[in-house]
Amino acid sequence: AVVAEEPAALPETAASTIKISSRDRVIFPESKLTKGDLADYYAAVAPIALPWLADRPISLVRCPQGRARQCFFQKHDAGSFGEQVHHVDIREKDGSTEPYLYLSDADGMLACVQMGTIEFHGWGSRVGDVEKPDRLVFDLDPDEGLDFAAVKKAAAYLKEQLAEIGLTSWPMLSGGKGVHVVVPLVPRAEWPAAKSFCERFAKALAQAEPDRFTANLKKISRTGRIFIDYLRNQRGATAVLPYVARARANAPVAAPVTWSELRTIDSAGTFTIRDADALIARAASRALRGWGTADQTLPDL
Ligand code: ATP
Ligand code: MN
Ligand code: MN
Repeated sequence: AVVAEEPAALPETAASTIKISSRDRVIFPESKLTKGDLADYYAAVAPIALPWLADRPISLVRCPQGRARQCFFQKHDAGSFGEQVHHVDIREKDGSTEPYLYLSDADGMLACVQMGTIEFHGWGSRVGDVEKPDRLVFDLDPDEGLDFAAVKKAAAYLKEQLAEIGLTSWPMLSGGKGVHVVVPLVPRAEWPAAKSFCERFAKALAQAEPDRFTANLKKISRTGRIFIDYLRNQRGATAVLPYVARARANAPVAAPVTWSELRTIDSAGTFTIRDADALIARAASRALRGWGTADQTLPDL
């Protein structure tokens, strides 16, 4: 599904040479937000999003007809996104090589938006050395009955447990239901060690607090609990990146927050694409400066 080009000359977003067609197409019907609104959001937040998004293999969630219609996850393209969207060859399990997408600037982001992209998801490693993660994510997925208060409590507990083993972590509202606890790393250990560490850590927490947590992917084991999704932390897996818009009602965004403000927040969808200015101001604030960074490596566990 390719977005139809409109013939007439179209307005350009200030920060970019990329032409956005069909700016008036409604992408988020609940709040009447359009493709133009989404493009403007990404043009505005590109400077604060790119430190996380650039130079990382990515997958896209594309919804060319809007978030309420068919969306699809895309890892590869056949060059149709244009020269602003780059490719990096990555070895697959079977020994073959596939070209993955990565971006280096705002134009790349907007080229993807032009092609119907709403969400950008990234590997936990950079294109320069895809085998060595520079960030881990513990994705907290609550069972349906649980409220956000339970998620926040769980996130704070993870933070404490990570601190016990010497790891600094940062919370991000997913824009959906949960919180992602992000652990930056100096890229030294390779994926198998990182995955093994995350699996052992998640399983230890689930064992210590079986009423609250599960580390088991099976839905049935989640009843009344929070699934600590450690499976984001394996080669080829992705997680949604900071400041990415979600293809969900009212255009929420994945938003970095501080541990102390998390206590006062009552939903993972608190920020939306209408909040670009606030997000930019926040990113420069003292409290959020340094968010998601720490000079640390995997501990022995
Ligand atoms: P929520 O807070 O609502 O759980 P989320 O972004 O954490 O939002 P999950 O379903 O928990 O959503 O997924 C976690 C991550 O796994 C996503 O951010 C995405 O990168 C990846 N993922 C999810 N679904 C797919 C899929 N169909 N194919 C590939 N990767 C996926
Ligand atoms: Mn999740
Ligand atoms: Mn998950």
